[in-house]
Amino acid sequence: MTETTEQLNKTPENSGTAVLFNTALENRAHEYGVILTSAINFSADIVKACQMNTCGYFNKCWTCPPAVGTLEELKEKILAFDSAFVFTTMGKLEDSFDFEGMQAAKEYHSRLTGEIHEKFGKTFPVYGAGACTACTPCAYPQPCRFPDKAYLSVEAAGINVTELSRAAKIHYNNGKNTVTYFSMILFNQCNG
Ligand code: SF4
Repeated sequence: MTETTEQLNKTPENSGTAVLFNTALENRAHEYGVILTSAINFSADIVKACQMNTCGYFNKCWTCPPAVGTLEELKEKILAFDSAFVFTTMGKLEDSFDFEGMQAAKEYHSRLTGEIHEKFGKTFPVYGAGACTACTPCAYPQPCRFPDKAYLSVEAAGINVTELSRAAKIHYNNGKNTVTYFSMILFNQCNG
């Protein structure tokens, strides 16, 4: 598995804050795009998919449903910002059974998102891919061990990543034997 550092999407995301995020990524993201949060579709079906617990984190982690609050509460928090800087990382796999490659790609994405969260999260909420894995297992329902490290997932907020990618004009799927992960950072363009 090799992570690409190529950034393909250079649409004019020229607000000062978006440029700041892009600079912090240091070409370690695959693609990025800026969207208005009003373009985000919040879907109860995505949260229902969480409830099916195929990932095993439902009711097991502070950054997943139901601990994150209701869809309406999350929507309100996200819509308090007018824009989202969406970025992806892409990992190459040997084949579709390359679970080690998938795991390595996820770890790469989580490291990068964690770094961005550490840098900007206090001012600009960061949403990542999947449950928080800062410690295993999560302390939930006991108090979070590292609240400064924890950030919510895009899916936990009921956001369909396929639609998010379309809105941001970046690829949801980067081709055969690849895996792509999404994160987003909320900000206000009027301030940047
Ligand atoms: S930092 Fe640890 S306790 Fe807190 S949400 Fe993440 S995994 Fe759970």
